[in-house]
Amino acid sequence: MERELACEIVKDLLPLYVDGIVSDVSQKSIENHLEHCTDCKEVYHNMAFHLEMETPPTEVSDVKRFLKKTKKMYLLYGLGGLSFIAILVCLIVDLAVNKGITWSLIAGSSCLFADAFIYALSTCKKNKGCIAMAVISIGTFCLLSAIQITSYYLMETGTFWFFRYGLPILLLWLLILWFPVLTRTFLKWNIWDCIVLFLFLLIVGNYTTKLITGDYVWNDVLHMQGFIGNALGEVIGIIVFGIIGRIEKWRK
Ligand SMILES: [Zn+2]
Repeated sequence: MERELACEIVKDLLPLYVDGIVSDVSQKSIENHLEHCTDCKEVYHNMAFHLEMETPPTEVSDVKRFLKKTKKMYLLYGLGGLSFIAILVCLIVDLAVNKGITWSLIAGSSCLFADAFIYALSTCKKNKGCIAMAVISIGTFCLLSAIQITSYYLMETGTFWFFRYGLPILLLWLLILWFPVLTRTFLKWNIWDCIVLFLFLLIVGNYTTKLITGDYVWNDVLHMQGFIGNALGEVIGIIVFGIIGRIEKWRK
C-alpha cells in the first residue's frame, strides 16, 4: 500500500507531472491521489488545459485541422476506399483471366501504397506511423502470398510469379514507402518534404519495376523512356509540394 501524498506535495509536483518528467513511482502516486482528491484534480485540470493552450500545434495536427476544415479528410478516405475497391476488382479480373501479375495489379497496388503512405504520415504521431507501416507491409505480403497460393496451388490457374516478380516488386515498394516515414519519424522532416521524397522515390520505383518485369532494359531507363507515364505526374507533384513546404517554412 502506498502512502498517501499530502495535497501540498502533489500540487508542487503537478507542473512536473503535466510535463511528464516525474518518475514512474511519483506518477503512480499522483494519479492515485488525483483519483480521490477533487481539490488537486481541479488544479491539475486547469494546468493541463493551460498547457494545451500554450503548446504550439504540431505540424501533424496542423495538417489534420486543415484537412478537417476543408473536408478534404473525407476526400482522402474516399480515395482510399476507391483504390481498395480498384485493387479488389483488379484481383478478381486477374484471377478470372488466369493471369499472374498484370499492370492493373501493379497500378492498383501503387494506388494503395500511395494512400497508405498518406494515412501513415497524417496519423504519424510518435511511433504510430511506424506501426501503421508495419501493418501495411505485413498485410500486403500476406495478401500477395494468399493470391499466389490460391491461384497457383489451389485453383491451378495463373503462373508462379511470386518470387520472380511479386516479392522483388513488393520489397522495392515497401522500401520506397518506409523511407519517407523513417525520415519523418527519426529526422523529423516536415510532411511536405516527406511527400516530395516519396514522389521522387516513386519515379525510381516505376522504372525499377519495369526493369524487374523486363519491360525496360537499362538503356530505356537512362533515356527516361516513357517519361510522361512514369515520371511527369510525380515531377509536377514534387514541384507543387516542394513549394507548399517552402511556404510553410517561410510562414513560421
Ligand atoms: Zn489533494
